[in-house]
Amino acid sequence: MKSGTSKRVAQKIIEELKSKGLSPLLSFGVERTVINVIGEERFLSVEHFESLEGVEKVMRVVSPYKLVSKEIKESPTIIKVNGIKIGDQKTFAVIAGPCSVESEEQMESVAKALTAIGVKLLRGGAFKPRTGPYAFQGLELEGLNIIKHIADKYKMGVVTEVTDIRFLDEICTHSEIVQVGARNMQNFQLLKELGKVKKPVLLKRGLSATIEELLLAAEYILSHGNPNVILCERGIRTFEKETRNTLALATVPLVKELSHLPIIVDPSHGTGKKSLIEPMTKAAIACGADGVIIEVHPNPKEALSDAQQQLTPKEFQELLKNSDAIIKAVGKTMQ
Ligand code: PEP
Ligand code: MN
Repeated sequence: MKSGTSKRVAQKIIEELKSKGLSPLLSFGVERTVINVIGEERFLSVEHFESLEGVEKVMRVVSPYKLVSKEIKESPTIIKVNGIKIGDQKTFAVIAGPCSVESEEQMESVAKALTAIGVKLLRGGAFKPRTGPYAFQGLELEGLNIIKHIADKYKMGVVTEVTDIRFLDEICTHSEIVQVGARNMQNFQLLKELGKVKKPVLLKRGLSATIEELLLAAEYILSHGNPNVILCERGIRTFEKETRNTLALATVPLVKELSHLPIIVDPSHGTGKKSLIEPMTKAAIACGADGVIIEVHPNPKEALSDAQQQLTPKEFQELLKNSDAIIKAVGKTMQ
């Protein structure tokens, strides 16, 4: 829309778009007002809409994803959670905690140690998507209660995974960020439901998903009404066997070219090896990631899932200390 266009004029255009069966979404910004239109292109005549009052320009978005695209929104999306601004270009967000919630004592011990080093976002899976049915499946609702209780005690925000729409409400009331795991990145029904809630969603890249498929998965959430999506590069499956996954860090600067959404890196699942987590965290900071999610367990050897890749709180503290200079070098502060 032309600058200074009133809401009334924009509303008139919105009504006309709706009458044509299209779905307009108004973003009323400080500098510019944009109406994003989704629907059958044949109902949209560029010439007609360009002739209407208030319209500056009508553009077709050519990429298959639209709302997540920079073509539609230049300014970075900032997700505010627990006093932290993820994606604001000044913050390097740190999410840490065990792979799975195992007990009250385990969560208390890790939350206490993380709080002492300034971490404010606590991860821990209560519903675990395990490869085999005989592996530990998570404490489910009991696990949600434990992580929420401990996080409240330490004033931390909860990041936990949803694997099933049936538990979405419970997960939303027990968390600040809802995680969609790699195995569910293309669970479109789940993505649509996540579009209906306003909770920030941490969307992890699927095991064999392309970057375009990741962005299209995010598009599902945005197009159903939830703009609060954080992308996560967690490695993809390749022929390489020395690492658990191949951590594709080029995703970070590429996503920054294509999308306004924040993107963080998971070097724990990305490598599956303790010794590689620190170097990959440093690389993630250097290539422009908005944060990391790292698995930390009070006693990794005894962990009920992902034992080989979890750091002790002490090892994690060391990692953060060693990464600090790089965080400063890219003009950010750790949150
Ligand atoms: C996890 O975060 O514990 C997890 C299962 O990750 P991913 O979905 O990336 O494998
Ligand atoms: Mn894990």
